[in-house]
Amino acid sequence: MARIASIKGRLLYNSRGSKTVEIDVITDNGDVGRVCAPSGASVGKYEAISFPDNSPEKGLEILKANEKKFIGLDPSDLKSIHEALREIDSTSNYSKIGGSIAFSLTIAATESAAKSEGIPMFKLLTKDSDLKFPFPLGNILGGGAHAGPGTPDIQEILVCATGSKTIRDSIEVNLSVHKELGKILAKKDPGFTNGRGDEGGWAPKLNNEQALEVAARACEQLGFTLGKEVSLGVDFASTTQWNENKKKYVYDRAGFENTPEEQIDFAAEIIKKYKLAYAEDAVHEEAFEDMAILTKKFPNILITGDDLLVTNTEILKNAAKKRACNAAILKVNQAGSLYDAIEFAKEASKNNIKLITSHRSGESSDSHISHIGIATKSKMLKVGVMGGERIAKLNELLRISEYDLIRGMVEI
Ligand code: PEP
Ligand code: MG
Repeated sequence: MARIASIKGRLLYNSRGSKTVEIDVITDNGDVGRVCAPSGASVGKYEAISFPDNSPEKGLEILKANEKKFIGLDPSDLKSIHEALREIDSTSNYSKIGGSIAFSLTIAATESAAKSEGIPMFKLLTKDSDLKFPFPLGNILGGGAHAGPGTPDIQEILVCATGSKTIRDSIEVNLSVHKELGKILAKKDPGFTNGRGDEGGWAPKLNNEQALEVAARACEQLGFTLGKEVSLGVDFASTTQWNENKKKYVYDRAGFENTPEEQIDFAAEIIKKYKLAYAEDAVHEEAFEDMAILTKKFPNILITGDDLLVTNTEILKNAAKKRACNAAILKVNQAGSLYDAIEFAKEASKNNIKLITSHRSGESSDSHISHIGIATKSKMLKVGVMGGERIAKLNELLRISEYDLIRGMVEI
């Protein structure tokens, strides 16, 4: 059995050009697991903090000072690595060492173990042999915290090839919709610069309604029927709009405000009109009862909590009790360590809450989350459509398909 022989951390940059950390975990066989941490722009109040005092350098220093705690551990024993990490930082939000260190270290250890055993990483994370591909879910049009002024308040309009039978087809369909939308936008506005938001979705000067209309048109022009071959999704990221003083959702760019009741109707109308398969954070991060209303109203749509749950097992238990959502985003760096995230995944499946493993808006070109999405039996893998750091995750799914270990697509 391999043992961790050394750990090396370095300062790198993410897709937004911000500082981040990368960690190598090296086994005594010389196998290297290497993971670079992502970061969010729309960050939930209760998620793990990325770095102590906002300093990646400080996180790396703390790791270096504590390297010995990990030497000699079995890199496939996620629990023991998590426990060693918790000896350094027992805070609920990893404020001492930083969630980015927890993220990179635990996934890098897992990757090094998989390499030592000569198996793909997803095989190390699950004993289950009945594995299927999650449907790629990707941003085709960005707004909110992911794009500049003039773009929609809504953060993400997403596409998912819900009718696809193979992973390659599902990726190609998403790519075709992204490209078609680009053509429509260029025709609609001769001044359109081909600008894209943080996750690679187009960033046009359109309001929410216009943005949804063009997204739907892109699908239909390709001959797809919404809700059949292709479905749209929306990440409302409503915490961005929520104004705690006014107790209203303030849509600055579109110029209107919604009471909590109006916000539920606003989201419900969009879900119905565009036959969405997926609606994320349609209300703000603490509005569990309001989410429960939507969940009850749309039992067949993935009513998904992201900022609402922040990949936190205790918050998920509370949400499950209140039937606040039927689906949950899994972002490992919101939780901190991969161990925390796997515990979250177990709790979700216990409560019949479907998982969507997700990237962050600030990403690296790593593709470990493609393995994590498969191993956690996620229904969708939210990793974007276009852009080097997004396509890296999709390309990894195609490499994984060569193993012949995965039989088709999940049932949503
Ligand atoms: C999201 O909100 O789902 C998202 C991926 O964005 P961020 O990483 O900015 O939270
Ligand atoms: Mg979100």
